[in-house]
Parts: sequence; C-alpha cells; structure tokens
Amino acid sequence: MRSVIYPGSFDPVTNGHIDIIKRCAKLFDKIYVCVAKNISKTSFFTPQQRLLMVKEACKDIPNVEVIISEDLIVNVAKKLNCSAIVRGLRAVTDFEYEFALAAGNEYLDKSIEMVFLMASPGKSFISSSSIKEFRYHNVDISGLVPPIVIEQFAIREKELKIKK
Ligand code: ADP
Repeated sequence: MRSVIYPGSFDPVTNGHIDIIKRCAKLFDKIYVCVAKNISKTSFFTPQQRLLMVKEACKDIPNVEVIISEDLIVNVAKKLNCSAIVRGLRAVTDFEYEFALAAGNEYLDKSIEMVFLMASPGKSFISSSSIKEFRYHNVDISGLVPPIVIEQFAIREKELKIKK
C-alpha cells in the first residue's frame, strides 16, 4: 500500500488544492492531507478552522484522511509510513520555494521523496492569498473555493469584527 502526505497551510483550502488532492487520490492508495503550521506565515483562519474546511471539502474522497500537525512534515510522513510528500507547482516562483523546501527535506530524511504535481490549467492562478484578497474586496469567490470556505469566512470575519 502506497501512502503519501500532502501538507499545506490551507488558509483557506481552495479548488486548486482540491484538484491536487483528487488527482493524487487516483495515483496513490492513501493520501494524508496535513494541515500544517508554517512558523513563517501568520494565518487568517485558526488551525481548527483550517482543519474543518479541509475535512469538509474532502469528505467524499474515500482514500483521503485529513490530519493536523505542528511537527516537521518529514517526521509526520515517517510516522504514517508515507513514501512521499506531495506538493503542487503553479509558477516559477513556486518552483524556487519548493526547490529549497525539497532540499531541506532531503537533508532531514533522504528516504522520503518529494512528488510535484503541476497545477491544472485554469486553477493555476488560485492561491489562498488571492482568495483572501478577493474576499476582502467583495469579489465573488464561489467558483474558486469549496462552499464551506464561504461559510467560514463569514464566521471568521465576525470573530475578527471585520465589517462586510
Ligand atoms: P504552504 O504554506 O505550505 O505553501 P499552501 O496551502 O499555500 O501551503 O499550499 C500547499 C501546496 O499546494 C503548495 O505546494 C502549493 O504550491 C500548492 N498549491 C496551492 N495552490 C495551488 C493551485 N492552485 N494549484 C496547484 N497547487 C497549488
């Protein structure tokens, strides 16, 4: 059985992430989607909200399990017996970041491979940051994120007293 892990901040999860998860689900037996804490990024949503959104968005994909962790991804991968870490690539800017990340992971643990899936055409412009920007400016994001994300935006904006 081949298991892989797909880590990300998912702040929030987008249709770009879901596209990677669905394609990955066809390639591997089991996918752990890991809501990870990135110490260099401050997130808009709480870790629990990010977890809830990814869980809801993936609930109909049978070989996907959604988890949350603050540990190094290579450590999580090892514990779960994953042979690879999956990441998505959109543009050259992603490549530079991911290239460095892959080198770091290789330094930490050579036995775990990195697997990259190219963003699907039409999804490559979607990023969690652009979603937050669009939402802030009242752009309709319903075609770019799972419905649960719209619900959670309304809740989070209320919590943070952001007027809409
Ligand atoms: P991180 O903070 O770890 O970069 P993200 O949640 O921003 O987490 O992204 C997780 C992974 O998904 C990254 O590898 C990123 O490049 C990829 N990704 C994000 N958006 C898309 C998209 N629209 N299409 C394909 N891959 C994507």
